[in-house]
Amino acid sequence: MNDTLGHAEGDRMLQQVAERFVTSVRDDDIVPRVGGDEFVIVVPSVDDEEGLKVMASKLLRSVSSPMTLAREVVEVSASIGIAISSNSLSTHEELITAADTALFHAKHMGKNCYYFYDFKLAMESGEKLRIERNMKGALNNQEICVEFQPLIDLKNHRIYGAEALCRWYSHDLGVIPPERFIPIAEQSNMILELGAQVLDESCKALRSWINSGYKDMVVSVNVSARQLNDKRFPDIVRDILIRHDVPASGIELEITETAIQNNDRAREQLEVLGKLGLRFAIDDFGTGYSSLSRLKTLPFDRVKIDRSFVTDLPDSESDTEICRAIFALCNVLNLNVTAEGVENERQLSILKEMGCGCVQGFYFSRSMPAQGFLTWANDYNAKAG
Ligand code: C2E
Ligand code: CA
Ligand code: CA
Repeated sequence: MNDTLGHAEGDRMLQQVAERFVTSVRDDDIVPRVGGDEFVIVVPSVDDEEGLKVMASKLLRSVSSPMTLAREVVEVSASIGIAISSNSLSTHEELITAADTALFHAKHMGKNCYYFYDFKLAMESGEKLRIERNMKGALNNQEICVEFQPLIDLKNHRIYGAEALCRWYSHDLGVIPPERFIPIAEQSNMILELGAQVLDESCKALRSWINSGYKDMVVSVNVSARQLNDKRFPDIVRDILIRHDVPASGIELEITETAIQNNDRAREQLEVLGKLGLRFAIDDFGTGYSSLSRLKTLPFDRVKIDRSFVTDLPDSESDTEICRAIFALCNVLNLNVTAEGVENERQLSILKEMGCGCVQGFYFSRSMPAQGFLTWANDYNAKAG
């Protein structure tokens, strides 16, 4: 609202919302505003969970009825997280944290939803805490390492390079998939350290492959939004390239669509890195909301079609059409395309027929440690002749 109608109207909206809340609750309930757009409602006497459900629905209805601001009718939505005090949830901090976790869950369910902090969320946040606590040590004692998955150029069936994927083999927690720990690292500055380590390992591997005769190998490295936003990022990248004496053209950075949305700093940093000679790929293409104009204005060289569009090829008509459309678009914009998640011959052959330039997937290989990748590459080339 602040962006579209101005701050004065944004403030008026908050006042109206607050009023609606106050008139919806009982006299002994307390309704403080605790952050920009966050309210807490303290309910000292609760009959049962049902009562809270009724209350939550009433509150959501009260916010979502149309509001007139600056002579425009606007629609406001809210999400509610609910925590009930108990033996294990008794302090003010514990209750707020639990309600916050439930709120996060409610937001993911869509607009105008409420969610109770429950056993499942308690387990999840317990796991999250364990991962957080262990990650720092894991970075220091090399429990988190980097593996490489081959990228195959379909024009000549040669190895184009590899994607660096981080792995955590924890002594205490077992194997933790990146989908579990990357988002947690991204919530703190831990992702900066992790990202730098992945880049360092990637350049080290690239140097060893170059020394073994793979002069044109490219390593693509995943970069998260927080890294792109870090002022030191371009310098960090430059230092690592120099340390391992690898050409900037040997590194491609993979960035998701959402990481660059409405982010001017990220744009500027990409420009600086582009001048160094690095290349960029949009990761998970098709899952975000990239506008076509953005594809044109940002310095991308490559688009990686998300695995979800590849999985059901060629049987799914809609996915086939989506892939065709992406290839046509990238052709016009002069962008290279990599299709991820190729697992079988049928997917490979339709992608080839559509003019796909590069593929990656279990059909060729899963990720491997740097040395194992080299052995695999020698083997692959020996077979290809
Ligand atoms: P991503 O960037 O989309 O990486 C590709 C994922 O697809 C990898 O999962 C890879 O193992 C998997 N994959 C590749 N081929 C196939 C296939 O044929 N079938 C199937 N089912 N899966 C395939 P992984 O390694 O679990 O990584 C998951 C995600 O974690 C990555 O998705 C990326 O978003 C994130 N990630 C991994 N390493 C890093 C990192 O170093 N930094 C950052 N910021 N994110 C990372
Ligand atoms: Ca990726
Ligand atoms: Ca991807």
